[in-house]
Amino acid sequence: MYKIMTPGPTQVLENVRRARSLECTNPDLDADFVEFYKETCKLISSLLHTKNETLILDGEGILGLEAACASLTEPGDKALVLDNGIYGKGFADFVSIYQGIPEIYHADYEHTLDVNALAKFLEAHHDFKYATVVHCDTPSGMLNDISRICPLLKQYGILTVVDSVSAMFGELVDADAFQIDLLCGGSQKAVSAPPGLAFVVISDAAKKAIKDRKAPIASFYANLKLFENYYQDKWFPYTMPISDIYGLRAALDNIAADCEILKRHFIIADSTRKTLQAAGLKLHQKSGFSNTVTVFDVPKNVRTEWVLDKMKQEYSIMLAGSFDELAGKVIRIGHMGTNATVSNMIETFKALDHVLRQLGVQLHVPMDEYFLKMINQSSALS
Ligand SMILES: *Cc1c(COP(=O)(O)O)cnc(C)c1O
Repeated sequence: MYKIMTPGPTQVLENVRRARSLECTNPDLDADFVEFYKETCKLISSLLHTKNETLILDGEGILGLEAACASLTEPGDKALVLDNGIYGKGFADFVSIYQGIPEIYHADYEHTLDVNALAKFLEAHHDFKYATVVHCDTPSGMLNDISRICPLLKQYGILTVVDSVSAMFGELVDADAFQIDLLCGGSQKAVSAPPGLAFVVISDAAKKAIKDRKAPIASFYANLKLFENYYQDKWFPYTMPISDIYGLRAALDNIAADCEILKRHFIIADSTRKTLQAAGLKLHQKSGFSNTVTVFDVPKNVRTEWVLDKMKQEYSIMLAGSFDELAGKVIRIGHMGTNATVSNMIETFKALDHVLRQLGVQLHVPMDEYFLKMINQSSALS
């Protein structure tokens, strides 16, 4: 068994695994299950600081992104796709699949999205039904400031679709204050349940846009409208994955009980970045560091897979490389959700320190010791 220190899926605690093994009812016929589903949705909304309704969908995180685009897009609708990362750009495909017209707003992949530059662009170009933005673009660890980006878009009446799958619960998401219309999350990142579920939080403005459509939604599974009357009618569009939802609920209860969750993510991420830099390694980005994942460049004369393989074979720890244009160039440490503990990180740094030295990399500090020093300093400050 590996210790997974990847930016999703993340480690799943025993109480979540146990919840998934509870006895099942018939989720189509048991009114108690409809209540349980609705309460779980309400818990998600409250953890994301919103009065908006949440729907849990039976599919991995990607389904939420697709459902948001499928449900909003009518043929010929224009959508602004904010692209400063691989997932950011990827939204264009969902817009196109549903016959919308994506306009890609490209910004460099090493900096957090420049909100002032976007404001300038919008002055002259704002004829969009909705815009898509990724909160944490996981392949590069890029964090975008949705607290400023979404309200700016809303000033022009542009609906906001936010992918916070790998940020929420490690980064603050205040969906009402940030004015997010469709907010997408998944079970397998900071939530720390196994992969398999997506959820979408829907504002009244988004519901109205979906209701006012002239063209039908060109999907069944990605059609949010089908859930419109599920509670009154006690009827889901398809049979709900009851065990997955039991597990998700336990994971959300863990989050609700964890008052220091954001602070812990910050302290661990901050100490991780300081440690890598003190050791002489290079953080991949120049700004926009997410507190859920840290991405550093593979040192000279070393190959990503050598590091990942040795970490796995000699220390049973799984780190991640990346993909697309970042394939072979970076290593990612996922310190989100239940991965984000001091002991997990010390174990990871101890192993990474040995592995890199064995591969001939000169490190300026012993990384596990330095990390602990940074943790103690930040804890003393707070
Ligand atoms: C993980 C993730 C998703 C979910 O999809 P995967 O199939 O796991 O890639 C969506 N968006 C982001 C930003 C993610 O990190």
